[in-house]
Amino acid sequence: MRLLEFQAKQLFAQYAIPVPRGILITSPEEAAKIKTPAVLKAQVAVGGRGKTGGIRAVETAEEAAAGVKDLLQMSIKGYPICGILAEEKVAITHEFYLSVLYDKKTNSPMIMASQAGGVDIEQVARENPEKILRQTIDPFIGIQKYTSRYIAKQLGIGNVQEFATLVERLYAILLECDATLVEINPLVETSHGLIALDAKLLVDDKSGFRHGDLFAKIRKEQNDLDKGPRTEAERLAKEREITYVALDGNIAMIADGAGTGMLTLDLIQDEGGRSANFCEMGGLANAKIMNESIEVVLANPRAKVLLITLIGGLTRMDEIADGIAQYIQAHTKTIPIVVRMCGTQEEAGKATLRNIGIEPLNDMAKAVQAAVAMARAV
Ligand code: GDP
Ligand code: MN
Repeated sequence: MRLLEFQAKQLFAQYAIPVPRGILITSPEEAAKIKTPAVLKAQVAVGGRGKTGGIRAVETAEEAAAGVKDLLQMSIKGYPICGILAEEKVAITHEFYLSVLYDKKTNSPMIMASQAGGVDIEQVARENPEKILRQTIDPFIGIQKYTSRYIAKQLGIGNVQEFATLVERLYAILLECDATLVEINPLVETSHGLIALDAKLLVDDKSGFRHGDLFAKIRKEQNDLDKGPRTEAERLAKEREITYVALDGNIAMIADGAGTGMLTLDLIQDEGGRSANFCEMGGLANAKIMNESIEVVLANPRAKVLLITLIGGLTRMDEIADGIAQYIQAHTKTIPIVVRMCGTQEEAGKATLRNIGIEPLNDMAKAVQAAVAMARAV
């Protein structure tokens, strides 16, 4: 999960990393709250805003109001701008790049830093990779002062102690929040010291069980800000964190994993059918996920047949069958359901399905053919 800039900066502030003072604006009316001069920063989950008109310096209240109105109607790289971080304008003398991340080559945490920070860092990385310093961190000993001192010297940063503290705090975020990347670009040196003018933070979703409250808060803020057009099915899927992509056909599908899901889509296509969606349960599903996934895909009014394709590995088929049964019991009216089931606890699962009047199929191709034929008949 990628945090929005304002969320990453809130976390930075909790770790005593200096960030500019700022407020989040989500409607044109709130522009009056902005103290000028200010910098308006589009909140979107993609980078490169500086080069695409997503960052605007404004001098007066009128400019601020006009800027807010403009930005709130814009998209960047296809992402609608969902809010604006209005920050005090910082006088910049130099832009540095600084990040801590996990390096796939060494399988270790690493510090990356450059004197050539700012909006052209990707170009620098491509054309002058030697301008980017890389220091691997031994996870058993952590960051040593001499490493930070060396980097500060190379970058030409005067206050070594301040820089060392900053690097340690970034590393603390990496470890404590299970982040995979903590990036400041640009890091700027001002008369008040070093300030993180931008903040990028990626956290590992799989560690959610360790950060329940924090991740839930971040996700909720993002969902609340999200203004993309949402159907009922998309809204439900998002709320339940179910992988769902709407398509334009009439055969709703749910697979127990991504691979099975892609195969199912291909087979539907080969049979001349059209899928109403893509949905997969992530390879370790249970009755609840199954039940909720059916509710998601059938919230799409175009769905005329439901095809469930399962290759039970880690996922137990008796659990999955219970989920399907729960759905059927809770809904009096439903569309025809075709299930292909095999694998772990298959016999128990099939018995449950027969009890609710669904004859499970063993053959994937036959299941798809049946679903396509039914979809054609309605
Ligand atoms: P990104 O392009 O999406 O990474 O957005 P950034 O937050 O990094 O901003 C892009 C650029 O805008 C920075 O590299 C700065 O040059 C400029 N910028 C952002 N905030 C300020 C500010 O407060 N003062 C000044 N002078 N420039 C800023
Ligand atoms: Mn940036």
